[in-house]
Amino acid sequence: MTRFLFWLALAFLVLFAIRSKLRGLQDRARRAQQQQPQQPTHPFAQAGRRVEELPDAEQMLCCAHCGVYYPASENVPAKGHNYCSHAHATV
Ligand SMILES: [Zn+2]
Repeated sequence: MTRFLFWLALAFLVLFAIRSKLRGLQDRARRAQQQQPQQPTHPFAQAGRRVEELPDAEQMLCCAHCGVYYPASENVPAKGHNYCSHAHATV
């Protein structure tokens, strides 16, 4: 009988130790979550603004020769197509 009580007490102690350890981990995770300020996941997602409304967003064009996307300000139009450079426009 004492042997049974010993094993029962040991089982309770192990369960108590596991529960307190898990609770400590949960508290630490919750505290770490509260300390980090909520940041928007994507810069365009803030305040519901669209990409076209952002001042530094520039339209991108695809080069008809190499297929590279480049800013529209660097466009070299030729023969009815858009090119990324004079070298590709003259080929
Ligand atoms: Zn190109």
